[in-house]
Amino acid sequence: MKYPFLDLAAINRRYSEQLIAGARRVIESGQYIAGQEVKHFNLKLGNLCKAPYAIGVSNGLDALRLILEALIIAGRLRKGDGVIVAANTYIASLLAITHAGLQPILVDPDPTTMNLSATGIKQGVAMGAKAVMPVHLYGRVAWNDAMRQMVEDAALIVVEDAAQSIGAKACCEGIYHSDMAGALGHGGAFSFYPTKNIGALGDAGAVVTHDEEIAQIVKALANYGSDHRYHNIYQGFNCRLDPMQAAMLSIKIDGIDNENRRRTINAETYRQNIANPLIVKPFQPQESHEMVWHQYVVRIEKGMRQQFIEYLSLNGVGTDIHYPTPPHRQACYQGLEHIALPITEQLATEVVSLPIAGHLEKETIMEISEIINRFKP
Ligand SMILES: *Cc1c(COP(=O)(O)O)cnc(C)c1O
Repeated sequence: MKYPFLDLAAINRRYSEQLIAGARRVIESGQYIAGQEVKHFNLKLGNLCKAPYAIGVSNGLDALRLILEALIIAGRLRKGDGVIVAANTYIASLLAITHAGLQPILVDPDPTTMNLSATGIKQGVAMGAKAVMPVHLYGRVAWNDAMRQMVEDAALIVVEDAAQSIGAKACCEGIYHSDMAGALGHGGAFSFYPTKNIGALGDAGAVVTHDEEIAQIVKALANYGSDHRYHNIYQGFNCRLDPMQAAMLSIKIDGIDNENRRRTINAETYRQNIANPLIVKPFQPQESHEMVWHQYVVRIEKGMRQQFIEYLSLNGVGTDIHYPTPPHRQACYQGLEHIALPITEQLATEVVSLPIAGHLEKETIMEISEIINRFKP
């Protein structure tokens, strides 16, 4: 493949000397669980998100689940409560909700932004929701004045799935004084899965919050429910961030502005150069900081998608589909498949993700655009 969809080795090559030095530092430190490396990374992430508490954990799914479990322990949510979530999300959003004993309230996204909107929240509130999980899908912040108003009016708990949106900035503040994705609500979850805008060299994630009580509970829950050594106040889990991954992430998080800026340039290059009338380009955010372009997702009519993907592949362009089967259509969620979610169903048949990572040069994006422009069924 001349233009692979994703080349993780190429992404990390830019940092390789620092990563090797970081790995050596951890190896020589003798500290392989918790400690300074993790503290240091937590501080950096908290600063980036303008939030007082950031807690590195094992992965994004665990981060989401820990927040929800902490909200239940704190008495802000109860088992069985409904959580509004856009149905076109990645399955991990739903897994966290159901693992915590909560009920997903699936709503269609806005077809333009492909994200949760005030309309979706309104539908969920009418179904009795107590919480909402905005998923900032593809790196686009799902938060605005109308959504905040609705959250305040219905006194909803807000748990963000910010796995795809590190560094993105909303158009308005959240319920605390931060406008950063992941720090808009009562708790936000990040993933540092290797493909994310900031990727670890393995699994990693984090919880960000403004709420001291939630922070304390999450921290304890992630460490066997222990608030101090051999003292267990909850039936917790082992969901800690490794110092090795923390060291890798502390290096890469310093490059976040550069990574996101380069992705934004690549998205802009696609926007200016893709001119094939069969291809619907993603909606341009009002302010560029509202989207960090985790994915560049175009749409093509269902009947032509497979042919388009094969054509691109023959011409050396790798693609992916995020996601071909929505969670409510998965075997593990039998019983949810009958919910009417026409926009979600349609998007699943039309979306195609193009290469967008920050190491790709503008010329590469222009070449891919030209290949796309020559596609005809
Ligand atoms: C990646 C991702 C997750 C899960 O994160 P992991 O670190 O892989 O557990 C959750 N939600 C969304 C939207 C994601 O993209």
